[in-house]
Amino acid sequence: MTVKTDVDALTPPHSAFAVENPMKRDDPASVLEPQAGVPGEAPMVRFVGVTKRYGALTVLDELDLDIGRNEKVAIIGPSGSGKSTLLRVLMTLDPLTGGMIEVDGEPLTHMRKNGELVPASPKHLRRVRSKIGMVFQSFNLFPHMTALANTIEAPMQVLGLSRKEATERARDLLSLVGLEDKCNHYPSQLSGGQQQRVAIARALAMRPKVLLFDEVTSALDPELCGEVLNVIRRLGSEHNLTMLMVTHQMGFAREFADRVCFFSQGKIIEQGPPQQFFSAPQHERTQQFLRAVKEAV
Ligand code: ADP
Ligand code: MG
Repeated sequence: MTVKTDVDALTPPHSAFAVENPMKRDDPASVLEPQAGVPGEAPMVRFVGVTKRYGALTVLDELDLDIGRNEKVAIIGPSGSGKSTLLRVLMTLDPLTGGMIEVDGEPLTHMRKNGELVPASPKHLRRVRSKIGMVFQSFNLFPHMTALANTIEAPMQVLGLSRKEATERARDLLSLVGLEDKCNHYPSQLSGGQQQRVAIARALAMRPKVLLFDEVTSALDPELCGEVLNVIRRLGSEHNLTMLMVTHQMGFAREFADRVCFFSQGKIIEQGPPQQFFSAPQHERTQQFLRAVKEAV
């Protein structure tokens, strides 16, 4: 059984902008004091003591992680170490067991009420999460909708854009990902690489500040990988976007990321700038992982 496929298969096509249930938590009272909460100054994303358990299994273990504005962070590590879960809790697809997450200087999983932090209401969640977009390994496009229709759906439903506004925005974005001539194609008429580029355009249509990528090239042939990575490269260099990317492509992580975080058993056991991380990994587990990846190539 491969975990990631199972988890991805459970994700419905619309989940990137689905409205979630209010979050449940063990211990909201134990949450730390809120940060200053000044957009523009605070880190773009902040995980504070984030814990996620499934039954007896601890998947994220009191994780602390700050991600700067426009920072590009590559998340690497063995299968089952919690990488997808990290992105999913940030996208609010899964509730936390403990701790809190802040986005753009304000709490995501919690909100302030009468000076206290309480679990976020669905409305608060929707508002803060709209700053985050996510692209999945399995594209998750609506199969019965064209590329254009896939890209205008959420801006119309969630942001309340008119069809005309949403269509203009979608055409620009499909053009940005090199698909201006494929607007009226259905997913089944597109290659995997093209479908993934539509998925990127669809995520961008919500004008997120943070973009999450979960192994977005893993389902693609090597040739199609390149076209998707090129789009990500361009987005990274030409737009103000904070990016978190789970990837097995060490070459791309090395070239693209400002920082690499190595996950093992729900913790970041080593992190650093790619140059340093890849050439002189300190932790024995990191060295072992990088050796295994090298041998597999
Ligand atoms: P990674 O992306 O690093 O491969 P995941 O974050 O997908 O790992 O999963 C981490 C662990 O959490 C795995 O052991 C997986 O089986 C478990 N897990 C993930 N999602 C669920 C779920 N919905 N229910 C139960 N266990 C889960
Ligand atoms: Mg995964």
